[in-house]
Parts: sequence; structure tokens; C-alpha cells
Amino acid sequence: MADGRWNVSIDSGTCIGSGVCAGTSPKYFKLEGGYGVPIVDEVDADDEVITAAESCPMEAILVREVGTEKVIAPLD
Ligand code: SF4
Repeated sequence: MADGRWNVSIDSGTCIGSGVCAGTSPKYFKLEGGYGVPIVDEVDADDEVITAAESCPMEAILVREVGTEKVIAPLD
């Protein structure tokens, strides 16, 4: 089970604006100007964020643990 705080970012140079993130998790992602953006940059740990990050066809969504910078998603 996830805990702690996570930083959520999207590489705008990699995002193709598919909207999968916003469709999978509208609580955390939206489309803006044709590209995916996090609703907020820092969130309480939630598996839904991992699911959305893993669903991105471009792996443009990066989720890191606040403080340690450990990558939570995507994982190889
Ligand atoms: S799922 Fe990935 S490529 Fe699609 S809009 Fe979201 S960040 Fe961009």
C-alpha cells in the first residue's frame, strides 16, 4: 500500500496528448493546450497515480517520492 507524498510531472516534450492519463485518472490529470498536465504537482501517495503513469503510451509521466526523489513510476 502506498504512503508518503509524491511529486508528479509530465515531460511536455514527450507527451503526445493522447489523453489516456486524464481518462484513466481525471482526479490527478487533465488535458491543457492539447497536452497532459498534472492537476497538482504534489499528491498523497495513491496507487491510482501509478496506474495512470503506467498507462501513458509515451511514459511521459514521472512519479517520484518527495524528499528521496525515488522513482515510483514508471518502473522498468
Ligand atoms: S497519457 Fe501520456 S501521452 Fe497521453 S496525454 Fe497523458 S501524459 Fe500525454
